[in-house]
Amino acid sequence: MTAPEPLSNALRNTENLSATLLNGTLLAKRVRSQIRKEVKKLTFTPGLAVVQVGEDPASTIYIRHKQRDCEKVHFHSEVHRLPAEIPQRRLIQHVESLNERQDIHGILVQMPLPDGIDAQAVIDAIAPDKDADGLTPVNLGNLLIDRERITPCTPAGVIRLIESTAQPIAGKHAVCVGRSQLVGKPVGLMLLNRHATVTYCHSRTNNLAAVTQSADILVVAVGKPELITADMVKPGAIVIDVGINAVDNRLVGDVKFDEVKEVAGFITPVPGGAGPMTRAMLLQNTLKLASARGQRAPTEN
Ligand code: NDP
Repeated sequence: MTAPEPLSNALRNTENLSATLLNGTLLAKRVRSQIRKEVKKLTFTPGLAVVQVGEDPASTIYIRHKQRDCEKVHFHSEVHRLPAEIPQRRLIQHVESLNERQDIHGILVQMPLPDGIDAQAVIDAIAPDKDADGLTPVNLGNLLIDRERITPCTPAGVIRLIESTAQPIAGKHAVCVGRSQLVGKPVGLMLLNRHATVTYCHSRTNNLAAVTQSADILVVAVGKPELITADMVKPGAIVIDVGINAVDNRLVGDVKFDEVKEVAGFITPVPGGAGPMTRAMLLQNTLKLASARGQRAPTEN
């Protein structure tokens, strides 16, 4: 499941592109198909619980997509909708009650949480062996010591996209633009674990272009539309655009796709790149958690 899969012709689309398009939608479909096969081998149904606090419309859409994904791979999924004004203590108790459930193998607390709730305190309440998002201190700590178990979904998806190019990672200069706990920082650690030479850039980086121009692998997770232009990209580089920005009623990434595709060797589109792979990795993590639990206590499931 974790072995790098070279891109098949189905995943390549070189028409009118000098770069090869990394099609996250197709790659995610392939991951789901593999997961379905693995689920058939289990004697129980993997279960994912998603906790939504408040009624953020974007969160509601993301959660609906996650539920549909679960259906596609025959997982049980449930959404726990809690009021925006719930006290933090009650929210943590709710998460703890999910930790106790034998039929729930993965828990995800949908971010952002309403103001006044300490998101980290809520994440801390998730049992590491049910942490479908890979964001608990234990799972992030495992990543830090090169013992990848459950890794955060977007970074895991980024790595799968890079691996799908069949280009070596070891020895390459990988530049992460963005150092968030959710995306940039763990992506850099995962690349480091694969022996890339990693540079992080962020809002205080001097002369961003000078750094990005030397990247063999460029991962951009900033949230600024079309920040990365063609002159900032090394010819032939692998460019992974994590950014999602709504501009004039359409979604654009952090990379100026139309011009960077003329320079890069491989590039992800927005939408259809890192987004679908993030969701696929949530399923992958849930399956891993379910399988591990099934092995520990098969009679309890
Ligand atoms: P954050 O806002 O948490 O982090 C943004 C990072 O970008 C920070 O490290 C910040 O630096 C850095 N930054 C800001 N401005 C600049 C700049 N001008 N030059 C260089 N670096 C800069 O965002 P996230 O990591 O959560 O998300 C990033 C983007 O990815 C967003 O568009 C988000 O919507 C998208 N996203 C997409 C997902 C998907 O599934 N495809 C999943 C998660 C996120 P500093 O640390 O100094 O503030």
